[in-house]
Amino acid sequence: MKILVAEDDSVTRRLLKISLERWQYQVALASNGAEALDVLIGEDAPKLAILDWVMPGMDGVDVCRALRKRETGSYIYALLLTSKAAKGDLLEGLKAGADDYLIKPFDLLELQARLWTGQRILALQDQLIAAREAMTERATHDALTGVWNRAAILDILAREFHRSGREGRPLSIMMLDLDHFKHINDTRGHQAGDRVLKEAAERVLSVLRAYDALGRYGGEEFLVIAPGCEPAPAMNLAERIRGSVIDASIQTSSGPIPVTLSLGLVNLAADRDPEALLRRADQALYRAKNAGRNRSEAG
Ligand code: GH3
Ligand code: MG
Ligand code: MG
Ligand code: MG
Repeated sequence: MKILVAEDDSVTRRLLKISLERWQYQVALASNGAEALDVLIGEDAPKLAILDWVMPGMDGVDVCRALRKRETGSYIYALLLTSKAAKGDLLEGLKAGADDYLIKPFDLLELQARLWTGQRILALQDQLIAAREAMTERATHDALTGVWNRAAILDILAREFHRSGREGRPLSIMMLDLDHFKHINDTRGHQAGDRVLKEAAERVLSVLRAYDALGRYGGEEFLVIAPGCEPAPAMNLAERIRGSVIDASIQTSSGPIPVTLSLGLVNLAADRDPEALLRRADQALYRAKNAGRNRSEAG
């Protein structure tokens, strides 16, 4: 674990460095507040900082304040060092965002214990962040295929619908539906069906551009949103999507399964709302199905 020591007194700085290295920390040194802040907001910054309160220029409390004002970057646990004389001002240090303090001269064992506490808090913080990220992922992504879920892709559609309308830019959306998917489930089993859905989503993703979005709209229906896509390239994209899915049989635990896909494509026109655009895409898909499936229809 990396740790920053900011201390203007060279004797204390050296003592801290030696002790911390003995305890297996990697140590970065600063001799004033400005240097400390540079290190802490830099790349690959330490997450633990021991900050002397009194330093020339920017002091330890100023560094805490600056750190807490940031809205980005990971949390930095700050331990303030202060002299006995300044004890009355501790409240100020804690208010500025210091997590803990030690009064000089301090006991090395006590410092070691305080650093353990700091590490424990940082670990908890990491767990919280990971849990929050996992929750966001679950709330917006389809568990089976990993693409956007229905609510999220509809949000994206609404956003792109309004943006394209405002900026007068083209927008294409495509409704995809695997052909005779019920038959795959019925004859090859639900597990194989799941595998087909996953692989189909991956294949579609592999031909999309970074700013296109793919979501699972329903059971075996997917929605592609392609902002900035003119009608002719959109039709090309539709056929590339279909091609990627039908290209080769999908390998499953019940053997290879050939899959075909029908696709309804529409381009933003005088649609009143995103729902109107969706309805048109659905109608185009319906026509593709009626015309014999395994094709793209523009509406
Ligand atoms: P069509 O060519 O007209 O689209 O026929 P289809 O059989 O694909 O259409 P239908 O809508 O009748 O059937 C869709 C099937 O998709 C029915 C449902 O059991 C299945 N399905 C929906 N969600 C899942 C899923 O998560 N996993 C699996 N394995 N099957 C699913
Ligand atoms: Mg000092
Ligand atoms: Mg369907
Ligand atoms: Mg289907």
